[in-house]
Amino acid sequence: MKCIFCDIVAGKMPARTVYEDDQVVAFHDINPQAPTHVLIVPRAHIPRLQDAAEEQATLIGRLLLAANRVAERLGLDRSGYRVVINNGPDALQTVYHLHLHLLGGRRMSWPPG
Ligand code: AMP
Ligand code: ZN
Repeated sequence: MKCIFCDIVAGKMPARTVYEDDQVVAFHDINPQAPTHVLIVPRAHIPRLQDAAEEQATLIGRLLLAANRVAERLGLDRSGYRVVINNGPDALQTVYHLHLHLLGGRRMSWPPG
């Protein structure tokens, strides 16, 4: 099964990587919705949140810690930023490889659309 984010993780597709460790990769979104828009993905192919196994609890936590690292690296830790997971059809998930969106550099609105 073809997966764009698996290809990026494997280095088969180019991406502007901003952070990586043994379990997580973060790269700039190709179609940014804010001045800073970074995607944070697990190296493991987990399609949706409900596909995460109990043993992957640490990995799920590592995604949030990676968001923290990315925000520091890109100078968003003081101004703030939003972290979003679009999970499933109603949330308009388009790539079925679990990812966090980190959005920052502008004032957000609430509620989200
Ligand atoms: P979602 O709609 O939550 O599944 O988010 C998928 C995101 O992946 C969208 O914001 C796309 O712009 C982004 N995207 C799709 N293909 C690529 C790619 N090759 N490199 C970087 N971002 C991508
Ligand atoms: Zn994948």
